[in-house]
Amino acid sequence: MSKKIIILIIASIFSLIALSLIQGYLIKNTYELKKEAFIEKAGKQLGKIDDYNSPLDSVNDIWTDIFIKDLDEYSLKNTNKEKLLKRLKVITDSLNPRFIREYDKILSSKKLAYNLKFHKTLKTIIITDNLKRDTIFKSSSEPFTLLGYAFEDDQDLHTGNSVWQTERSFQRVTNGEEKKVRYHLYFESHNYINIDDWSTIIFSEMKGLLLLSFIIFLFVIAVLYYSIKNLITQKKIADIKTDFINNITHELKTPLATLSLATKLLKKQENTNTTTITTIHTIDRQNARLQKLIDQVLDNSLGYKEIIVHKEKVVFGSYINSVLNDFKMVVDQQEIDFLNNNVERHTTVFLDRFYITTAILNILENAVKYGGTKLKVNILEVNQNVEIHIKDNGIGISKKYQKHIFDKFFRAENQEVHNVKGLGLGLYYSNQILKAHHGTISVNSEKGKGTTFIISIPKV
Ligand code: ADP
Repeated sequence: MSKKIIILIIASIFSLIALSLIQGYLIKNTYELKKEAFIEKAGKQLGKIDDYNSPLDSVNDIWTDIFIKDLDEYSLKNTNKEKLLKRLKVITDSLNPRFIREYDKILSSKKLAYNLKFHKTLKTIIITDNLKRDTIFKSSSEPFTLLGYAFEDDQDLHTGNSVWQTERSFQRVTNGEEKKVRYHLYFESHNYINIDDWSTIIFSEMKGLLLLSFIIFLFVIAVLYYSIKNLITQKKIADIKTDFINNITHELKTPLATLSLATKLLKKQENTNTTTITTIHTIDRQNARLQKLIDQVLDNSLGYKEIIVHKEKVVFGSYINSVLNDFKMVVDQQEIDFLNNNVERHTTVFLDRFYITTAILNILENAVKYGGTKLKVNILEVNQNVEIHIKDNGIGISKKYQKHIFDKFFRAENQEVHNVKGLGLGLYYSNQILKAHHGTISVNSEKGKGTTFIISIPKV
């Protein structure tokens, strides 16, 4: 498997993990929000039960009345904190069955969709008089259940706090001495509810969302799997195609070489009539053309990493001049201008003569092939590079095709181009050659107006 595909698979796996983490985080957040909303709703229901219910109020009145009297005794120092708290526990315990009964009655009339239990725990009792603040029960101490069902607070839902504050002032005669007592009471309790399987209830509310995100997740996995599988298959097919083309071209080379030898022999024959000579020349020409095509296919199986360049020092201006002179010999009607913009006479460049000549010739041949009658070749130095601008006045390339012309086997789809024979390999190969030189090749063109190819090569 190619490195690119492996990187793609790894990147997809990482993206999937990131996606599932984000999704998990969003689901967790939704769960927390739903839980908060659920607790708030349940808390409100309970608040209503507490607020407007006379049987419950009467139970509350009983223990609060007794507790206030006990508290008076405590403030007169007739009892201590431990006894006071024990008494409170005894009173609330004795009232608890009645409290639970009343509560359950109201709850069952509400016809809730879930099984709810409730309790109140004591958190803080503070009394403050003129002299001091006296904490009878600390908020940091272990809370104890005042009323309601016994269950562990930490597993259950805290729905809110109830605070009872009151001012007390009274006079009492003790041991013939009249005493005026005043204090302020702060009494805080926490309300908890316990719902059987409340998390299942919240999850069932999130059912749609969970299902949808699961389906989307599966869909993303399926799409990724399908795309990667497709890519691997495509790559395999492309490899098979390349192998096939290479093999077949290799196989064709031997009979063609023999054919060329045979035509050479025939050409040497004397006493042959004109028809035979013309036929032999036609065979020779077509054979040469076939060989050229096969060489082109073979060369183009090379990617730039496989092209081994042997760079040599070349005087740039005269090198381009000689390439152009050779080219002028094979074209006849075309007008070719050679301009030198700013390249010094002795500017040298390191390049592989054979490969760079092939790339320049490919572009020059294209310029003629695609309708160019006037060609302008301009050379210039730009920073650490030399550039060759090859401009023609041919059919031009429309914008939508320009980014594809350096792809293997690409040929622009239009009538004029289809009349010209080609394999769509010349520019691909030229691009690979320039990549192997760490150079670039680019195009500027307008349909119907002509094309300019720019080759840029680093000087060293
Ligand atoms: P081929 O010429 O064999 O089709 P190339 O790789 O050399 O393959 O060129 C790719 C395509 O780019 C051509 O088919 C043609 O559509 C377009 N092209 C290349 N050079 C020119 C040019 N000078 N003017 C117009 N079109 C061109």
